[in-house]
Amino acid sequence: MRWYDQSGRHLPWRNLRNPYAIWLSEVILQQTRVDQGLKYWERFLRELPTVQHLASAPESHIKGLWSGLGYYRRADLLHRGAKQIVTDGWPKGYKAWLGVPGIGPYTAAALASIVDGEVVPALDGNAYRVYSRVADWSEPIESSQSKAFIYSFALGHLHPKRPGDFNQAVMDLAQAICTPKKPKCSECPLHDSCAARRAGTAELLPVKSRKLKVVNQDMHFAVPRRGHLFGLIQRPLGGIWSGLYTLPELATVPPEFTPQILEHRLSHRRLKLHFYSEFAGSSEPEIWLTYEEWSARGMPQAFVHWLTNFPYI
Ligand code: SF4
Repeated sequence: MRWYDQSGRHLPWRNLRNPYAIWLSEVILQQTRVDQGLKYWERFLRELPTVQHLASAPESHIKGLWSGLGYYRRADLLHRGAKQIVTDGWPKGYKAWLGVPGIGPYTAAALASIVDGEVVPALDGNAYRVYSRVADWSEPIESSQSKAFIYSFALGHLHPKRPGDFNQAVMDLAQAICTPKKPKCSECPLHDSCAARRAGTAELLPVKSRKLKVVNQDMHFAVPRRGHLFGLIQRPLGGIWSGLYTLPELATVPPEFTPQILEHRLSHRRLKLHFYSEFAGSSEPEIWLTYEEWSARGMPQAFVHWLTNFPYI
């Protein structure tokens, strides 16, 4: 949120608490660039300053104000939406916004979070790109599995007190920094926490189809041991081996130790794994488990492979 407060775009509706002005901005920007939509938004507010004015305006007036924006069906839906709101009152929350003509899941989530403060992620192509990279999510993004994962990942990261600002921050980040090609990772506020940046896969994500490019990746692991126990950490959600227990991964290679090296193939990665069996790492593992206990919690195949080649059990 610090980045958004300092570097987010200054858009006039962002400082308002007026649901009419915010709803209007979301509808106008559905298929329109901000610089183009801004003058239409100002013109609508000047000529039809409240939802009541919009609802009672003749269709020809609305079409005239909309002229040049294209997708005229949006103008019809806006008019119908205004009439419904005047009759039923302002919607409260995501489900209610979905019931307004012209409002789909993304816009409903954006409005519910901005206007009502509801903690709900607004997910369009831009947001999917950012979240899939931060989580290093490599399944095809259109799949239902991906949609469910990204939804819960985003929900888990939304700011509980500023969900609307958080959704808008993700949009700004997607447009200014986490761009489809050549993302500016060195300027990104998520630089340290982004799993795709660490793995070097940012430009490959989100995956559009199952035709994946394979990337080479080196990973280095300490091997903390206490007799038959292995010292393990739980992997972060989203990245490689999401949520499973592995040996602690090393950010820097300990030069005085010689690793055991193993190659292992995942769907879109060719891993070169370096195990430093003489090096226990510099921080305490989260948990100590026997091989059987580790297996019972879900041991990644790469570690089964390692223990088959270099048994310590
Ligand atoms: S670090 Fe790079 S890939 Fe990750 S969110 Fe930022 S710009 Fe996108």
